[in-house]
This record gives sequence, structure tokens and C-alpha cells, in this order.
Amino acid sequence: MPRLHPRAIPLADALACVTSVPLTAEAAVPPFANTAMDGFAVRAADSGPGARLRIVDTLAAGHDPAGMVVGPGQAIRIMTGAPIPEGADAIVMVERTSVAGDDVVLEVAVPVGNHVRSAGEDLLPGQEVFPAFTVLTAGHLGVLASLGLRRVPVFPRARVGVLSTGDELVDGPDELRPGQIRDSNRHTLLALSRDAGCEAIDLGLVRDDLDTVRSAVVGGLDSCDALVTSGGVSMGDFDEVKKVLVELGASEDAWMQVAIKPAKPLAFAMVGDKPVFGLPGNPASSMVSFEMFARPALRQMMGHPSPERERILAIADDGFSRVSDGKLHLVRVVGAFADDGRLHVRSSGGQGSNLLRSMALANGLAFVPDGDGIPPGGEVPVALL
Ligand code: AMP
Ligand code: MG
Repeated sequence: MPRLHPRAIPLADALACVTSVPLTAEAAVPPFANTAMDGFAVRAADSGPGARLRIVDTLAAGHDPAGMVVGPGQAIRIMTGAPIPEGADAIVMVERTSVAGDDVVLEVAVPVGNHVRSAGEDLLPGQEVFPAFTVLTAGHLGVLASLGLRRVPVFPRARVGVLSTGDELVDGPDELRPGQIRDSNRHTLLALSRDAGCEAIDLGLVRDDLDTVRSAVVGGLDSCDALVTSGGVSMGDFDEVKKVLVELGASEDAWMQVAIKPAKPLAFAMVGDKPVFGLPGNPASSMVSFEMFARPALRQMMGHPSPERERILAIADDGFSRVSDGKLHLVRVVGAFADDGRLHVRSSGGQGSNLLRSMALANGLAFVPDGDGIPPGGEVPVALL
């Protein structure tokens, strides 16, 4: 999947985005030598048990030490984060001192550099901070902020248009007429898109009419980097998404049946460099299909070094029984790590492709290969959702 063109975006919007170039420090962090402790700035040579030094000044964090000097036999009272004043080369923490009138009495001898944080200890000017293809976490954003960066060059979030197709669908609480159901897929797919790091655009409900579907898809592609549709990709008489994506992909291969359960039917077309994912309408199928096909592709567009979900070999406590049907079964499971350090999983409920609640309860998808299933206590690979 082609990556989106990198651009610099505000730091505040960059969480979970991926850097497009190596980032280099232009300044030292910390910018100056400063104290790691509240205490007294001293000359190490003057320190020792019982040493008595004259307190000549007080220095708080954020204040300029210009003009302050720690001379022989002197000390400056200093707060964490304040610059090391001229003449001082060590800090004695306040807990190891006592004040007697204008003097401080030290309990200990300290070496040069004691509790001193040197300039550039975290980052030096010219140093590579993070390589390209770094997924930005809170800590990364903090480091970039410490360097004064306002914007960071990343692969931008994919703008993903999401639409539902189906004459039976109703949005929201309106009373249902005979044959109607409420649209859930748009909400799950918008949320999955956001969760994948994309900017999700609601393109609404679309009727099962070839021209309407075509104009919704073509119109959506105008303003989005990728489209996700649900419904209309099966073998029914009114499965118009399938026809439109076959047209747009200019190939019968744009429609396929994947040997997985749920989520067998899938339509896919690249329109220019924009992918269109025609996901099945059954609610659990559309979510599983998004997980398997759309999510990794969208994350690839956004530069993710590892676009796939993490997989773990888990213990199937109750096993998974199945009959051989030529398909990989993707079983919705609830998993938890146990005292043995292993992930233990169980079915999260009914596995019908229309049953969404078990999908909502699941925190993993178990990959149960074709065959007669997995015995209780057997191992099964699980994608962590
Ligand atoms: P389709 O893939 O269009 O043949 O739809 C398969 C099944 O999923 C049918 O029972 C549809 O009513 C149902 N379905 C399709 N789209 C949605 C949706 N957006 N929300 C909930 N159910 C849907
Ligand atoms: Mg339909």
C-alpha cells in the first residue's frame, strides 16, 4: 500500500503518528547544568562532616544565576532545577545539612559533580533523537516538546470515508418499519478507523442502487485517502457495491471470497493510489474484515513499521470445536494472562456473523485452522485486539 505524503503536523495532533524522517536535536537537553536536589551549591573541596560554610545567596529554578558566585568557604541555597552557580561544582542535599544562623553545616563530604545534572545529559545538539518510522507515544511527544518543536514531520493520518449500504438500514432511534434494522456498521467502522489512527469521515447511509452507490463512492474518494463500505458485496441481487468496485478496479478480481469465517465476501479496488474496501454487511463480519484487511493497509499508508496486530500463542482453556470446511475460523475470544505467564482464551459468545455483542466483548481473535478444532488446553494463535 503506498504511504501518504509526509507533512509536518502540530505536536498536539501527532500522538500515534509515525515519523517520516530521522529527528535531530538542535539544542542540548537540559540546556544548562542544574541541580537534581534541593540543597546547597558548594565547592566539593570545602565539603566534609562538620564543614561550616557561609550562605551567600538563594537560587530558585527559573532564575538567572548571573552575578552569584560560590567562593571558598561559601554556599548558595539552591532548589531542584536551578542552574549551578559560578564557583560551585557540587550539591549537598538539604537532608544532609543543618542551618546555623547565616551558615550551613554539612554532614558529609561530596565529590565534584554530586547531584549535578550536566547540560546535554539527555540530548546533545546534532544527536539523532528518533529515527524515521518511530511511532510517537506520549514520551516521544515530551522529548520533542523539550526540544521546542511545534510541528513534527510524519506520515499524516489517513482520511477514511465510511459508508453503510442497505435499503433496510435506519440511522438512530427512528421507529422501524417492517423489514428495517438499525445501522451499526458505520459506527463500528468509524470507531475502528479512529482507533487505527485514521481521521474517520462519516459518509452516511447509501441505498442499494447502482448509481447511488457509484456516486457515493466516487464522491467519497474526492475528499478521502481511503474508503470503507459495508454491505452489498455478497451474492444477492442488490449487492451493488460489488459491481461498483469491480467497475472501479476494472477487474473481476476486485470481488473475492476469502477462506475465512466470518467475513467471507470482500471487494477491493485501488482507485489511483486510494484503496476502497468493500466489507461484508453482517456486523461481526465487517469488523473482522476491517481487522484483517483494512486496518493493516491503512496503517501501512500511515507509515507504521508493523501494521499488523500483535499475535500471541495462547492456551484455549475450553478448546475450540469445529468441522472442516476449508476455512480459517476467526473466533472471537476473551483472554487474560494467568499465573503461568500464558494468555488463556475462551469464546466470548455466539460466533454467528450477525452477532455483534460477542465481538464487543472480545479482546482477541483466535486463529483456528481448518480441521477438527483445538482440544481443551491446546495452543492457538490469537491476534490481540
Ligand atoms: P449484505 O452484506 O448487504 O448482504 O448484508 C448482510 C447482512 O448484514 C444483512 O442481514 C444486512 O441486513 C446486515 N447489514 C448490512 N449492513 C448493515 C449495517 N450497516 N448495520 C447492521 N446490519 C447490517
Ligand atoms: Mg445489503
